[in-house]
Amino acid sequence: MTYVKDADAIPAAPAAPEGLEATAEAAMLIVFIGPPGAGKGTQAKRLLAYLGIPHLSTGDLLREAKSQDSPLGRLAAQYMDHGRLVPDPLVLEMVGQKLNEPQYAKGCMFDGFPRTLQQARSLDESLALRGTPLSLALELRADENELINRMLKRAAAEKRVDDTPQTIAQRMDVYKKQTAPLLEYYTKRGLLETIDAMGSPDEVFERIKVAVDRRRA
Ligand code: ADP
Repeated sequence: MTYVKDADAIPAAPAAPEGLEATAEAAMLIVFIGPPGAGKGTQAKRLLAYLGIPHLSTGDLLREAKSQDSPLGRLAAQYMDHGRLVPDPLVLEMVGQKLNEPQYAKGCMFDGFPRTLQQARSLDESLALRGTPLSLALELRADENELINRMLKRAAAEKRVDDTPQTIAQRMDVYKKQTAPLLEYYTKRGLLETIDAMGSPDEVFERIKVAVDRRRA
């Protein structure tokens, strides 16, 4: 178990889930970063089948809260429906609770999280306390016109309320301003792998496997 030097300065985290100590060595924690439409969810699901690590999508969790009309869901909807980010404290609380579930002891693939520097720092702190630091940050990079086309197609198929042309433009803008700085953050930590996300889902997944296997070796 590794301890961070300044762990005392970090607020107390909930107790580690049972079984974590035994599996911490093998844990693989991966963050997916990419603009809307880059295929984070699709690729995270494929990687889940390949690595056997559970997937944690903040977008899915927030949409679920919204469909259940819970207080969190009602609040989150005010941001999501306009393509804006849900405030950090809400997202961090939600992810913190989820990560304590025993299924995440052996690793996790974060999809759509972190999306701000504050979320990234907070994730690092919680993972340091668990003794399971991030293994890899995968950036999915694609041409903006291609992304917009993909999302407009998805809008027709899935009827997501945030896939309108106006909201898509807003989400792209939010990505560039609030999430893209994470690329430098993870580069500095030696964790970033950039994947060309143009091409078919199979082609992109092959590239991801190469990057992941390199880190596993
Ligand atoms: P996409 O990657 O296509 O934008 P997501 O499903 O990841 O889709 O996210 C949908 C919406 O949910 C975002 O536009 C945002 O409003 C909200 N959301 C998801 N994850 C986060 C997060 N980590 N922080 C803040 N808001 C989030």
